[in-house]
Amino acid sequence: MSAPTFSFEFFPPKTPEGAEKLRITRQQLAQFKPQFFSVTFGAGGTTQEGTLNAVLDIRKDGLAAAPHLSCIGSSRASIAEILQRYRDHGIRHIVALRGDIPSGMVDVGEFRYANELVAFIREQHGDWFHIEVAAYPEYHPQSQNAEADLRNFVNKVNAGADSAITQYFFNADAYFHFVNEVQARGVNIPIVPGIMPIQNFAQLARFSDICGAEIPRWLRLRLASFGDDTASIRAFGLDFVTELSDRLLQNGAPGLHFYTLNAAGAVSTVWQRLGL
Ligand code: FAD
Repeated sequence: MSAPTFSFEFFPPKTPEGAEKLRITRQQLAQFKPQFFSVTFGAGGTTQEGTLNAVLDIRKDGLAAAPHLSCIGSSRASIAEILQRYRDHGIRHIVALRGDIPSGMVDVGEFRYANELVAFIREQHGDWFHIEVAAYPEYHPQSQNAEADLRNFVNKVNAGADSAITQYFFNADAYFHFVNEVQARGVNIPIVPGIMPIQNFAQLARFSDICGAEIPRWLRLRLASFGDDTASIRAFGLDFVTELSDRLLQNGAPGLHFYTLNAAGAVSTVWQRLGL
């Protein structure tokens, strides 16, 4: 079995203050020597320049970085142009996504699903890029049903994905069940759990409802019971996320991908507690 892969995800900063904060976060997290950092991409290309600039900044520090690329609302020509720009910069690692359809978007463009983007990247660039795709242990919120979602994931992998990163989840069984299900369907790429620190309960609950990540009843009630006491929420969240991460690694997860939200604090603590 190969060594576990650890990575940190950022979003492109929108302001000079945000850029400065990210620079400091990056320096703090670089000491952990992750395999790579990844930078998200706004659906419809809204952060295209920001994504590339953030990736180039990371690379300037001698660190590996992978831009995300979402295809919804895009033409084949515009995606081809972005891929060529990435390639011209020597980028060889990409996270390929459909993206969320922005409300009000009428023209969804020439790609409907991420598997079409993966196939397009392979068609245009062969093996130049290492392609990561998204996986949903608790199933994608828009999937027709669980079976269809599993089938769609397998199709996306078969289109040419090298590895996958999951949506965050708080239930390790969902992850192991998903991995077993897709392995039974012939998938043998690494599926790395996405780990979300718990910092702000109201925000986490809202976001989890949208992206289909379940906060188990006991956890929701426990977090809610802290009320406005953010210090207790964070302390409890750190214990919980460390235990979850540990259980995932102990039971064979091939690494961890941390959703940092551009802040180093919680992720650094989890990392140190895990003794990685
Ligand atoms: P897909 O794999 O295309 O799946 C989307 C839905 O379509 C699923 O319900 C699937 O079952 C269904 N489907 C797939 N193929 C078919 C088919 N042939 N027929 C019918 N249904 C089908 N979003 C961003 O905008 N920018 C980012 O940078 C970003 N980064 C992310 C990183 C990770 C690790 C994850 C987990 C998600 C990220 N997202 C990002 C969110 C993601 O774009 C959304 O979850 C989006 O709704 C689905 O993207 P996907 O690539 O998983 O889509």
